[in-house]
Amino acid sequence: MALQIVAACVNCFACVEVCPSGAIVEAKPHFLINAKQCTECDGEYADPQCASICPIEAAILDASGVPLNPIGSLTGIPLALLAAREEVHHARS
Ligand code: SF4
Ligand code: SF4
Repeated sequence: MALQIVAACVNCFACVEVCPSGAIVEAKPHFLINAKQCTECDGEYADPQCASICPIEAAILDASGVPLNPIGSLTGIPLALLAAREEVHHARS
């Protein structure tokens, strides 16, 4: 079982220091989690430390591919508003 960092990651380094397993790899284009080293913080912390500190929504997924910080969970911007902005953006381009 391991978490996964995906393309939304902005390589901010915040998660690297808090990972108790040293599982986070500085890579391009975005950081990665070494699945062999990630313990999901099981037995050490109540919550995965990387996801707890990550400032970017949907940058870290659980083992099922579900974002630990889903869209709207950090910014509070409602999904409907984001979708409406996306439509305006597409209409202009
Ligand atoms: S869940 Fe825990 S062990 Fe796994 S990468 Fe994140 S901080 Fe490291
Ligand atoms: S804290 Fe989030 S955005 Fe920053 S490097 Fe880690 S996964 Fe990427």
